[in-house]
Amino acid sequence: MDNMTKDYKESLIAMRRHLHQYPETAHQEEKTAQYLLDFLGQFNPDNLISGIGGHGIAAIYNGKNKGPAVLIRCELDGLPIKEDSRLEHRSVYENKGHLCGHDGHMTMVAGLAPLLSVSRPQSGSVILLFQPAEETGEGADRVLSDEKFGHIQPDYVFALHNLPGFPESAVITRNGVFASASKGLIIELEGASSHAGHPEGGNNPAVAAAQLVQSMLTIPQKHLSMHDAALITPIHMRVGQPAFGTSPGDGVVMFTIRAHSNASLETMEKEILHQVKHIARAHNLSYRFRWIEPFEAVVNDPGCVEVIEKCAADLELEVIHKEIPFPWSEDFGVFTNKYKGALFGMGAGEKTPQLHNENYDFPDQLLEKGTMMFYRIIDALLNTDSKK
Ligand SMILES: [Zn+2]
Ligand SMILES: [Zn+2]
Repeated sequence: MDNMTKDYKESLIAMRRHLHQYPETAHQEEKTAQYLLDFLGQFNPDNLISGIGGHGIAAIYNGKNKGPAVLIRCELDGLPIKEDSRLEHRSVYENKGHLCGHDGHMTMVAGLAPLLSVSRPQSGSVILLFQPAEETGEGADRVLSDEKFGHIQPDYVFALHNLPGFPESAVITRNGVFASASKGLIIELEGASSHAGHPEGGNNPAVAAAQLVQSMLTIPQKHLSMHDAALITPIHMRVGQPAFGTSPGDGVVMFTIRAHSNASLETMEKEILHQVKHIARAHNLSYRFRWIEPFEAVVNDPGCVEVIEKCAADLELEVIHKEIPFPWSEDFGVFTNKYKGALFGMGAGEKTPQLHNENYDFPDQLLEKGTMMFYRIIDALLNTDSKK
């Protein structure tokens, strides 16, 4: 398997570019799922399940003997961002783009189907999982709570994410926390509007909104130690409308909070609730509070990390041990919270634009390496029929 045929490599590139051209955002991944179902169906999985947790798909390959189940997961969704590119395979849609490289991840995982169809695991089973709605942090949870996933009991779960800023095809690993926990927060304030010449006749939430930002930013400093790396980022604020004659009566402030551990995130959540209540009350405002897009921290199992590192070494890929966890989040944390597993990074090149940039395009050179990494991992845990 080390020397993949030229046709196979070219078919992976063609698939990746097709998926890139037709991106679909969270919960809308219908055509992407159909395209993958058509592809996977050609390579005789023992079970092909669709509609898991939305548009999720699982292709299952069983071995001859009983053994552990290894799940390899990728993501189906693109982003609601306009792609700015002159590439021939750029997005055909006005405001949707595969700018996180999930097109590449899907191709890497789909690329396992032709390999597994001719060399099934000796024992156990392999589950190729195409998960919907990763970008909003909802998909993993929905997949795991879907009854169609009920009889799939993975013993090990693996996924990778491409990482710009790291040498091309280097494998980035870390024991324990790999990616941070995070959550979005929307605070709506309600006072009373009035004529701008008579603000005393209403209740303008602007000062409270400003105080909220100030007090939030001190929470990590006041309530967490230096070891609990945590961050609160104001991402949006507004009071009223740009109308010079009106003193506004409503406002909204939004934050993203993130931390290396789920426990630190919970500490911040409690304190935030307390502060919002306190400030709103002091200004006689009513408020509404909403948490959105929650992501658990991705926590890697050391045994699984060892397997990843061994496979990377076998493939002569550079291995980079990340000293501190990544500040970004991935909903794969829902899987690692429940099952033994690990998420690893694959370098996308040091000069590549960052993920979610409007001109990000997954590097095709990584496709074969990603597929081989997963194939090696499966082989290391389950022994496939044909090795080289
Ligand atoms: Zn993303
Ligand atoms: Zn992503």
